[in-house]
Amino acid sequence: MDCSNYVDLMTEYMEGDLSAPDQNLWEKHFNGCPNCKDFFRSFESSVELINYVKTEGCPQPVRQRLEKVLQDRLNLPIDG
Ligand SMILES: [Zn+2]
Repeated sequence: MDCSNYVDLMTEYMEGDLSAPDQNLWEKHFNGCPNCKDFFRSFESSVELINYVKTEGCPQPVRQRLEKVLQDRLNLPIDG
């Protein structure tokens, strides 16, 4: 997996939706990846948005839109 995959998982990670092995994998990559750490810092301002999404039951379109924003910020190609 490259960074875009981890960005993809970031929302799920923050929502606690990842399985334990996936969570470990994510943390392992994140801890060794300056790119993702950098991104996460800029992403923190979006945490409120995520919390909102969580409280509102995370409608699929909102999640997709959020993921798009995150991917645009990382400037990575998106597949699927
Ligand atoms: Zn990364």
